[in-house]
Amino acid sequence: MINYFWFRRDLRLQDNAGLFHALKNGKTQCVFIFDKSILNKLDQEDPRVTFIYKQVCEVDAELRQYGSSLQVWYGTVSQIWEQITASKAIKSVYTNADYEPLAIKRDNEIAQLCKSKGVDFLSFKDQCIFDKNEIVKEDGLPYTVYTPYSKKWKSKLTDFYLKPYPNSDYFYNLEQNVKPIKNTLESMGFKAADYNFPAQKTSYGIIKKYEKLRDYPAEDATSKLGIHFRFGTISVREKMRSALQVSEKWANELIWREFYMQILFHFPHVIDGAFKPVYNRIEWINNETDFDNWKFGTTGYPMVDAGMRQLNQTGYMHNRVRMVVASFLTKHLLIDWRWGEAYFAEKLLDFELASNNGGWQWAAGCGVDAAPYFRIFNPTAQQQKFDPNFFYVKKWVPEFGTPQYSHPIINHEFARKRCLEVYKSALN
Ligand code: FAD
Repeated sequence: MINYFWFRRDLRLQDNAGLFHALKNGKTQCVFIFDKSILNKLDQEDPRVTFIYKQVCEVDAELRQYGSSLQVWYGTVSQIWEQITASKAIKSVYTNADYEPLAIKRDNEIAQLCKSKGVDFLSFKDQCIFDKNEIVKEDGLPYTVYTPYSKKWKSKLTDFYLKPYPNSDYFYNLEQNVKPIKNTLESMGFKAADYNFPAQKTSYGIIKKYEKLRDYPAEDATSKLGIHFRFGTISVREKMRSALQVSEKWANELIWREFYMQILFHFPHVIDGAFKPVYNRIEWINNETDFDNWKFGTTGYPMVDAGMRQLNQTGYMHNRVRMVVASFLTKHLLIDWRWGEAYFAEKLLDFELASNNGGWQWAAGCGVDAAPYFRIFNPTAQQQKFDPNFFYVKKWVPEFGTPQYSHPIINHEFARKRCLEVYKSALN
């Protein structure tokens, strides 16, 4: 009898909770499934698929050093587990918990399937320090405001939660079975995207100056680790340990990540609608031409345009600018935040459902702990404050300052007043 460990958004061998428990328990075969139901919705050249494929190959190469290899499947998850459980005598399937509604549904189905075959399905916490109901209010209800959540989070933290799992102590339990990976990007209908993915190492220097410089998009002052947190190519325990030693501000951002994860877990309705349902009454204008101008960075507001072009060209946008462009789309143009959310989901390398949804609802004013609707970012003032020398703007909008640069598609004062009226009438 053998254990299986199923990789998903935890693509590393070291300090991996579910893999640790599987190996400790006996011989273990590692597996990764390229899920057709997810891949079918993506562009052929989606760089995130290339990123995952590269990581899968790296995990496989590392496993080979220990006489093992990664089984890489492509298809419908339930059919593949049917096939695996039919072909081998399996004791248990180990995995790490995923808190997104569709992932929870999928895991429940696979747990049922396993049960029907007499196989245990065991899931562990790995992608965050605290999950589910670990951080709740005194009355047992989830927090919906960040500051008290983070206070409770910090008060509960002990070394126990940050301890790395010593996976390599049990690598002798990796199933000795070296086989080639049978699926390639091409065989799954994808093309390798030529991308410079952010490196895995955060330099001490960046985190050290993070608090001072993180709001200035022209500075290289944030970690760019989002994609690695998303796919678990780094351990959140390891990064949290260094964050707590070097920069509390950076640690706070990692806590925001967990805050939004627990919001999505406890309030899955946020996927399709406002956290505060009354905001679903807002009458969005949803003008397609405005939306295109926003998408392609031709609004005539330099900070917005620079941000959207950075996103389109690199799959990344600085956090300060994400707030500015999201506010501009929802409040200046009165376009449904879900349109912007979907565009970010398509383009961001670090796309993460909980944080993206949380960020958009925050900007639109309809989410947990959101910016009040009457606080409307002035995109020009934001640029003057955070990119006073236009370094960021000029990097992404080369025609800025020439007659070729677009005129503003909307007047700020007009847009501000219109937004206040539309929100007010919806909320009254
Ligand atoms: P750093 O500033 O170095 O922070 C380190 C890590 O902390 C990040 O990689 C991320 O995992 C986490 N983090 C930082 N800020 C936040 C935050 N405000 N909320 C939640 N987690 C945070 N973040 C995503 O990871 N995926 C998204 O899809 C996403 N969409 C967003 C959409 C909008 C409209 C807004 C306003 C913010 C969004 N964010 C998202 C949060 C934030 O902008 C990014 O996490 C950050 O810019 C990523 O850059 P970095 O890796 O250099 O982060």
